Amino acid sequence: METLPAYVIEAEGVRHAYEGQNGWVRALENFGIQIPRNEFLCLLGPSGCGKSSFLRMVSGLMRPLEGEIRLEGKRIDKPGLDRGIVFQEPALFPWLTALRNVAFGLEMSGMDKKVVNDRAAEVLRIVGLERAMHLYPYQLSGGMKHRVAVARAWALKDASLLLMDEPFSAIDAVNRMTLQRYLVDAWLAEPRTVIYVTHDIDEAIYLADRIAIMTPSPGRVGKYVKVDLPRPRDRNSGEATRLRAELTETMERFSGQ
Ligand code: ADP
Repeated sequence: METLPAYVIEAEGVRHAYEGQNGWVRALENFGIQIPRNEFLCLLGPSGCGKSSFLRMVSGLMRPLEGEIRLEGKRIDKPGLDRGIVFQEPALFPWLTALRNVAFGLEMSGMDKKVVNDRAAEVLRIVGLERAMHLYPYQLSGGMKHRVAVARAWALKDASLLLMDEPFSAIDAVNRMTLQRYLVDAWLAEPRTVIYVTHDIDEAIYLADRIAIMTPSPGRVGKYVKVDLPRPRDRNSGEATRLRAELTETMERFSGQ
């Protein structure tokens, strides 16, 4: 049997820049990271520090100008069904029910129809949507649509990695906390390697095994912080409060305030 590499993602010396009207904008420089299997990693940093650029490169939609990113030991050069992606907007097909929306990606991966339906129903149950499976997106609340989007990505059982780019940032604070809880439930039911991009310190403390704090312009990882707290987490525990202070201080220092 082939042994899997210890790290699902390895990035080394990654550089990226965009050509703008006033010259080049440096997005990432000397960016490196190693992400072990089943780690929930939060990439934390202020807007513009290159988080989405890194995610786009891991998704295979964009290539680094320098350096290399490897998925399961192989250099990433194109998108693939081995990576599930959840964006800020749920982007569901309006003409398909919640169940069919989740099933769609599984059918693309060539799974048998009966297995697809069972799997789609299973993940919708994990995110608390067992009674909404046959509803269409227009019949769902904003939060429920996000849960369908999470379920759709989570359904890809064989995916090496899930990429989440500020998936709940457009949601109000109370609903956001509920969504985070569903995500944690999904992760506890079926642990996965996740790269979750956020600028929200509390969200990172609630979700992550490890937080990679980015330095801005050009972005790279400036510091790692382990979150060794049992899940589901108490957002106001003494350790959460201590971590919040540490992360705030670090982010302020990195942005030169
Ligand atoms: P973040 O996700 O942390 O907000 P991004 O990766 O989106 O950061 O952006 C990093 C830097 O690159 C920013 O300065 C941003 O303005 C710039 N940038 C991102 N995408 C483009 C693009 N398509 N064209 C020009 N500049 C871009």
